[in-house]
Amino acid sequence: TSNEKPFRLAVIGSGPAGFYTAYHMLKKYPNTLLDMYEALPIPFGLVRYGVAPDHPEVKKVQHKFDEVAQDPRFTFIGNVKYGQELKITDLSEHYDAMVFSYGASQDKTLGIKNEDSSIKNIFSARIFVGWYNGLPQYRNLKPDLLYTDTAIIIGHGNVALDVARILLMDIDELSKTDITEYALEILRKSRIRNVILVSFTSKELREMMNLPNTRFHTDFEFLKTELSTYSEYISRNREKSWTLKFLRSPIEFIMKEDQNVHSIKFNVNKLEGPIGKRIAIPTGIIEEIETGLVIKSLGYKSVPLNGVPFDEKRGIVPNKGGKILDLEGNEVPGLYVSGWLKTGAHGVIATTMNDAFETAEMIISDIQSNKPMISPKNTENKENTENMKLGSKAILPILHNRGIRTVSYQDWKKIEEKEVEVGKQRHKPREKFGTQNRDTNEVVA
Ligand code: FAD
Repeated sequence: TSNEKPFRLAVIGSGPAGFYTAYHMLKKYPNTLLDMYEALPIPFGLVRYGVAPDHPEVKKVQHKFDEVAQDPRFTFIGNVKYGQELKITDLSEHYDAMVFSYGASQDKTLGIKNEDSSIKNIFSARIFVGWYNGLPQYRNLKPDLLYTDTAIIIGHGNVALDVARILLMDIDELSKTDITEYALEILRKSRIRNVILVSFTSKELREMMNLPNTRFHTDFEFLKTELSTYSEYISRNREKSWTLKFLRSPIEFIMKEDQNVHSIKFNVNKLEGPIGKRIAIPTGIIEEIETGLVIKSLGYKSVPLNGVPFDEKRGIVPNKGGKILDLEGNEVPGLYVSGWLKTGAHGVIATTMNDAFETAEMIISDIQSNKPMISPKNTENKENTENMKLGSKAILPILHNRGIRTVSYQDWKKIEEKEVEVGKQRHKPREKFGTQNRDTNEVVA
């Protein structure tokens, strides 16, 4: 197939969805020439800024992404915000197709009293995780972990448990991970000793059970029985504790005079209905739990960006197997979606990978069945323009003219080398650098 004309593909977002789509396209459709645009100067999305620092094995997927990036048909263009600095009209001139894989960059909310007020020490898990993992925009968050000994994490799922673990983990253990040094400093002095959680899944639960010097409380007797294999751990003397509370819906945040959060009011629910179909019904009993730190772990939310159809209700780009549909359900030529933006913000890297493969397969099948791709805007000159789709060769000068300093994969590898070097001095895998000097392009710690 090498004498066929190249297929120019732009991928927006460099998380697992973007990289696995790229991997599959380059492997299965050799004529692909692929450019990946990323808002941050640094690639890998939530693999770098989400996955917990004490899960280094999960981050090994970066090696796979490195291999993809070494392919001469692949170009990484970092530090470009699609929607603001780059528009669909720029890209459609120079690509046959686009894959949107820009993930979920906002938070789901509770919609309860005082949620939007400026009460101090209430954070979404996304922001808190972004803070300890070095996401540039949250490096200066400075959560006050001296204020109190009790934190409440609202919500359930892996992210909530990641946050609980980070708040309770032995600081010496944590300091060997790639957690940022500034977060470590704040966590080292932290007074948090008790973390109250609402729900959980089993793998993380096991890790929680194994935290040294930490006692476990739950208000469900059955759970204690189910977890009896861990009882030896539980009964040892521990300095810290964590508690699971069920059947409570938050209804209001309460602020102290000093503007810090003071407590949360919950409606206590009860389960009604036959087993398997039980639903939680409010009892009318209100419980107020004091806390000085609240992490809301309710899930991530995607946002619509320039030129991308968006289903507000489901919070995703409408699609059929990765092919983008408009709001009437018609296929949009040449536009595809993958990852959390396609499925909603749930699922692990492995599910994101399979889903990205599905999108790549859809693109290949569309090429092979001669479905229309993006047609050039300049129809008069159609034949000419079609042969002249230049991808990033044309887009880079446009971006540079707009004053944007793009970051290449080679630039990133240099940054990474430095990160590892500084990390070595601190006995950790790397020290994540965070802020970029827009004039010199240098990324510094
Ligand atoms: P993302 O990883 O979010 O990638 C999206 C990319 O798009 C980002 O790089 C972002 O900067 C970029 N982007 C955003 N807006 C723009 C724009 N306007 N222009 C250009 N680029 C843009 N999975 C596991 O398997 N194991 C774990 O231990 C694990 N831990 C997790 C912990 C947390 C806190 C979270 C939130 C998730 C975790 N996951 C874990 C899930 C995993 O991270 C996701 O499945 C996966 O990252 C989703 O991939 P994605 O590419 O769709 O999104």
